[in-house]
Amino acid sequence: MGLVVQKYGGSSVADAEGIKRVAKRIVEAKKNGHQVVVVVSAMGDTTDELIDLAEQVSPMPSGREFDMLLTAGERISMALLAMAIKNLGHSAQSFTGSQAGVITDSVHNKARIIDVTPGRIRTALDEGNIAIVAGFQGVSQDKKDITTLGRGGSDTTAVALAAALDAEVCEIYTDVDGVFTADPRVVKKARKIDWIAFEDMLELAASGSKVLLHRCVEYARRYNIPIHVRSSFSGHEGTWVSSEPLVQKSQQQGDKPVEQAIISGVAHDTSEAKVTVVGVPDKPGEAAVIFRTISDAEINIDMIVQNVSAASTGLTDISFTLPKAEGRKAIDALEKNRAGIGFDSLRYDDQIGKISLVGAGMKTNPGVTADFFKALADAGVNIELISTSEIRISVVTRADDVNEAVRAVHTAFGLDSDSDEAVVYGGTGR
Ligand code: ASP
Ligand code: MG
Repeated sequence: MGLVVQKYGGSSVADAEGIKRVAKRIVEAKKNGHQVVVVVSAMGDTTDELIDLAEQVSPMPSGREFDMLLTAGERISMALLAMAIKNLGHSAQSFTGSQAGVITDSVHNKARIIDVTPGRIRTALDEGNIAIVAGFQGVSQDKKDITTLGRGGSDTTAVALAAALDAEVCEIYTDVDGVFTADPRVVKKARKIDWIAFEDMLELAASGSKVLLHRCVEYARRYNIPIHVRSSFSGHEGTWVSSEPLVQKSQQQGDKPVEQAIISGVAHDTSEAKVTVVGVPDKPGEAAVIFRTISDAEINIDMIVQNVSAASTGLTDISFTLPKAEGRKAIDALEKNRAGIGFDSLRYDDQIGKISLVGAGMKTNPGVTADFFKALADAGVNIELISTSEIRISVVTRADDVNEAVRAVHTAFGLDSDSDEAVVYGGTGR
């Protein structure tokens, strides 16, 4: 049997009991004949608590020290987990990201993995150990400083190690039974997806689904590492994310591939805000100046809409969405370049939400868009912005309407399950 990488999130190791429960599961995998590498997140809300602490000490902590602080969270859980495994009579060794060979660039707080050299992990495995690796961290190639990969980065650590060690599968253990057709915290009748293609999963992640990070799925697709998302609280089979359809064993018909659904799911996101630049001259080059200003401030934007200009004034409005956290920076940058751009005023609105319908079947099924808008209309939800890709339609609405809209769309596309309600085993969903 091959090598498996298992990743356990913060809610799975929230306390001593959780750590002992997870240790048992890891030992099971080892007893089944696998070589096991475990990537672990910080316990519960430790990372948030460390961030709060840093902010109390300094309003703008240095990136280097901030990373040094945050990586402490994962060191606590990795050491405790190794102890718990040893207590069950199996040998385990814990490693920091740096010791595990996770090499990154030097952008503190959101470093990118550029290489993984897991020599020490290999040796530990060959000597019969279970290797425990601290997630979310690495060491910078040039300065040899400790870095972090951005919030939720342990998933990326797990996939990167799986790729470097040529693992059979990367199992991501979380507090729900897998990837659902909508956030089970919002839609009680959300259905667990058995298999989903990388492409659809990437769109869901980009549209606000929090179960897997976009960067982690991107990495898995690049190296073709199948991901199995499942709960550490139940023994249920979870969701497989891979390039090839899952083959299901069926007694009557022999092996048959699981078919790709027309619609994979509905995602929502309330972390964005909308900026409207009012009274922009409708002439070539205006959008270029506005979005150069935004990109010079290193802000990533999402949707853009330009209104038809009023014939009498020759002026138009341009709206775009961006992470709320970048709102202040965007407004300041635009104000500073007011003369260069030439607009009347700026409007900022952080009471918006985005709902996205994702599915590869959209390409070949006419009417999906019409049905989507009909469902929103029937629910009395007003649409403010629209954007589409080949396999996604997204709309911006009032934030207050988001949950209602997600449920309405989920029902309209026949995604509601008729069996048990989706279970959320723990965690705060953040
Ligand atoms: N502990 C880090 C966080 O909370 C990394 C992770 O959980 O993946 O963001
Ligand atoms: Mg976490």
